[in-house]
Amino acid sequence: MKKYELIILASAILFNQIGFAQMHFDKVEVKTTKVAEDLYMLEGEGGNIGVSIGDDGIFLIDDQYAPLTTKILATIRELSDKEIHFAFNTHFHGDHTGGNENLGNIGVDIVAHDNVYNRLKNQNSGGLPIITFNNKLTFHINGMHIRTIHYKNAHTDGDSIVYFDGKNVIHMGDIYNDKNYPYIDLPAKGSFIGIIKAIDDTIANINDETVVMAGHGPIINKNKLVIQVGELKKMYQIMENLIEQNLTLEDVIELSPYKEYDAVWGNGFTNPRTFIETTYKSISISIKNK
Ligand SMILES: [Zn+2]
Repeated sequence: MKKYELIILASAILFNQIGFAQMHFDKVEVKTTKVAEDLYMLEGEGGNIGVSIGDDGIFLIDDQYAPLTTKILATIRELSDKEIHFAFNTHFHGDHTGGNENLGNIGVDIVAHDNVYNRLKNQNSGGLPIITFNNKLTFHINGMHIRTIHYKNAHTDGDSIVYFDGKNVIHMGDIYNDKNYPYIDLPAKGSFIGIIKAIDDTIANINDETVVMAGHGPIINKNKLVIQVGELKKMYQIMENLIEQNLTLEDVIELSPYKEYDAVWGNGFTNPRTFIETTYKSISISIKNK
């Protein structure tokens, strides 16, 4: 094939892919749920977006995918015409940060943990945070304190949980995964024990009335977290015992130690086989570091 034909073919394939992605996102509807006075959750595709509206302006948590920015902004404009000041990233994954560049271009300040900045920079993302922090950061706006707490190694190494003090609402990012096996992003230094510790810490900081926005899925509460972390601890224990008996990963896969959980937990992003592999590797690291 001649060079120019190749170029035309390559452009056609690229165009089809972009066209397909755009068509797919065109069908997405953005749903608004009021979670407290002047606080909303938006669902479209990708991570749940938190929206605080007040006298000082608008504060966002996460921003889904770039092709959805126009729709997300239109939905926010149905709630308020105040200026959007900040978008806070709970972690670096593209389904939570894909809209960063578009928002940055209209003057929104993107804020995230240092590790989110580094990971987005390494993947040449155009939507880098312009404010970063290393442990805790508090926004004093809209008549409340919006506190963000970093968890070192949980779903990734850059996860934050956001507390809306005075509203009794939090946003957990992907540290909580409704009814699915947790996605432990090992290449991004995620850790199974880190997820358990982060959920335990959150349970200690909230009460029965706290409204909990998860990274994906519906609004949950403290009781859901208690049940979830109980199950995760059982799964952790099962794998820890097998590793301490010096079983190889292949031996463990053969045993399929989580088969009783697969029907309920195994249908999400992390399939049963991947979950065994990541828990085996993650818990092996935790045992070594004991
Ligand atoms: Zn994620």
